[in-house]
Amino acid sequence: MRICQTIEEMRAACREAKRSGKRLGFVPTMGALHEGHLSLVRAAKASCEVVAASIFVNPLQFGPREDLQKYPRDFDRDRALLEKESVELLFAPSVEEMYPPGAITWVEVEGLSDRLDGHSRPGHFRGVTTVVAKLFHIVEPDAAYFGQKDAAQLAIIRRMARDLNFPVEIVAGPIVREADGLAMSSRNAYLNPQQRKQALVLHRSLLRVKKLWEGGERDLARLRAAGREEIAREDSVRLDYFEIVDAGSLEPVVDVADGALVAVAALVGTTRLIDNVALDASHGAR
Ligand code: AMP
Repeated sequence: MRICQTIEEMRAACREAKRSGKRLGFVPTMGALHEGHLSLVRAAKASCEVVAASIFVNPLQFGPREDLQKYPRDFDRDRALLEKESVELLFAPSVEEMYPPGAITWVEVEGLSDRLDGHSRPGHFRGVTTVVAKLFHIVEPDAAYFGQKDAAQLAIIRRMARDLNFPVEIVAGPIVREADGLAMSSRNAYLNPQQRKQALVLHRSLLRVKKLWEGGERDLARLRAAGREEIAREDSVRLDYFEIVDAGSLEPVVDVADGALVAVAALVGTTRLIDNVALDASHGAR
């Protein structure tokens, strides 16, 4: 695996890899890799001849009181994991390389960026879209892989790619969970054993809503109330949002139809966790 730390080197390596018409897949990450990330790498490997990954903890997407400083970082472990998956190219730039002094340009998907996590974390999504746009320009991938775990992010990146004509196919990978249902996240490392158990309430609340929906309930208010009530049962978990939205526009749906996204965010101690399920009548909700 070739590791590139500068934009110039990464761009040249990606162009070289694509020269003979090879399909280039790209998996952007913030590191602290787990099976969720690796599932995206495997999906990329399965349909692309060359796979590039990036590890960059993007300061632009963290609010002033968020966990930028303490975000878990273990480059050697991540590198070994990516090597084991036979990733060909790894981009690991410094903050100065990505944002030299004086950079003042942002990429923002208006409207969508203020919904769900964007509502609770002002500026978060414009940080995400700005870095992803830059990464797309540097890597020039044929396909880029994102997890359904961050469903709002996925909708916003799809929209950005469409609106700005990025010649890249956006591919979504399903949420990878621990055996007990907790969605894998680099932030799970912050949880103590007691919080780790309490965190299961997120998935439980989604399953409750899914079950009601599968039983024929279609009323938004009733479904949302059931999810919120489930979260409220876990005393030490503080709900941020529990919403049922259109998976593309992220706007609340009135009649909860096939394809709607049920999304939750909550604080377990000081750790903010998110999870979601898509309601799907043909396959059951995932
Ligand atoms: P992050 O390192 O948190 O920025 O995540 C990098 C990519 O991995 C994003 O596209 C995430 O949606 C995806 N991802 C994170 N956790 C999971 C998970 N549990 N299952 C599937 N994809 C995930």
